[in-house]
Amino acid sequence: MSINLLKDKSVVIMGLGVFGGGLDSAKFAARFAKKVVVTDTADEKKLAETINQLKQFDNIDFHLGGHQISDFTDSDVIIVNPAVDEANPYIDAAKSKGKLITSQMELFFQLCPAKIVAITGSNGKSTTTALTAHLLKNIKTGKVFLGGNIGNLPLLETLKQIKDNDIVVLEISSFQLEQLVRIKKSPHIACVTNIAPNHLDRHKTMENYCSAKENIFRFQKPGGIAVLNTCDEKCRQWYEKYKQTSRKCILFDREKLDSKLTEIFKLPGAANRENLAAAVTIAGCFGLKDIDLAESIGSFVSLPHRLELIREVDGVRYYNDSIATTPESTIVAVQAFDEPKILIAGGYDKGLNFDQMAEVICDKIKALILIGQTADKIERSARRTGKIAQIYRVKSLSEAVNQAGKISVSGDIVLLSPACASYDMFVNFADRGKQFGELVKQL
Ligand code: ADP
Repeated sequence: MSINLLKDKSVVIMGLGVFGGGLDSAKFAARFAKKVVVTDTADEKKLAETINQLKQFDNIDFHLGGHQISDFTDSDVIIVNPAVDEANPYIDAAKSKGKLITSQMELFFQLCPAKIVAITGSNGKSTTTALTAHLLKNIKTGKVFLGGNIGNLPLLETLKQIKDNDIVVLEISSFQLEQLVRIKKSPHIACVTNIAPNHLDRHKTMENYCSAKENIFRFQKPGGIAVLNTCDEKCRQWYEKYKQTSRKCILFDREKLDSKLTEIFKLPGAANRENLAAAVTIAGCFGLKDIDLAESIGSFVSLPHRLELIREVDGVRYYNDSIATTPESTIVAVQAFDEPKILIAGGYDKGLNFDQMAEVICDKIKALILIGQTADKIERSARRTGKIAQIYRVKSLSEAVNQAGKISVSGDIVLLSPACASYDMFVNFADRGKQFGELVKQL
């Protein structure tokens, strides 16, 4: 397959979005195709920033605020954003006319000359992907590219810089993996961190979700490697299913990491040790030994908003885990520390139940500071356990940080891990984490 696929064709980009994928596809198509139609259900105002970056191309038309069937029946190629559920009448119409349906990820897999390492899972994808790329930089024979759902590397636009001895490390979602079925391709090295129910609103069943994830190694060629988590039930099932095939299957185990490596690793908690075990195992597939990796493991720091150490004030360490928007992720965060903890939680109410979280965490924290819409619900769940003495209700994140400052003593951890989305008080989780960081720096 070559870029001739798009040459002189008319191409539709379905779903521009405000993040990299749609924009990258549109730019790539505009360079080779005769005509490009960018269509999105969002309107011009919402997409203004992305549209601005496409102004330089005079062969792009924009059909925004909804889709038109004729675009899909009259064009040659449709490039679908993974955020779009493909079970829709427009894709059906294109299929019935025999049009080529593809995506950014499919094009990238078809055109990339380098080995691809891809990482998926329900949790820990970004951390494992960033850490893997960081460790693979110890290989000096080629460059390492980090992209997919992490960072904003425009994959297709970057193709011209990628050489065959380079390595591309991708974070890849179940939606992107679902698209790869069409071209029956899997990455050279495929890693699954763990599997828990996720995105079931779109995948409908756990079976469909797992089937999408399985595509990460389903089409691997002989010599391909599947790297799977020994602590995860679904991963172990896949290991048994695939171990006798022409690909190599390796189980990684956080308990088997060399203690010299875990001691220098800065990220807290068992979940992060799992991410480390995955990354070290992948690096091992490229011949890198523990001794080659020690320095890079020691220099890796948390990604922003993921158990990110902000600062130590008078012996109290403040951690930002603003990305924790579900009770399950807050449980993981609380379990990551043995020290006494003051937890700041609460936020936008998306109808979740906090009983299970309260049951698990209340005897592991010394105080709970609650903000946002869900404060009442979390307080009720916490009190019901009878396991917690100190609960504080505050009106703002600023008050929460001040309260934490007042009640903490040297050796404590103050942890922002809200268990809720942020939309009641902040633009998004990143805004919440950023404000937390600024408040802590002012202490
Ligand atoms: P993802 O990209 O899958 O969302 P991240 O690496 O961004 O995962 O981590 C998000 C949050 O998920 C972290 O703050 C942490 O609380 C939790 N987490 C990270 N790694 C794991 C893991 N291996 N298992 C379970 N939870 C994890």
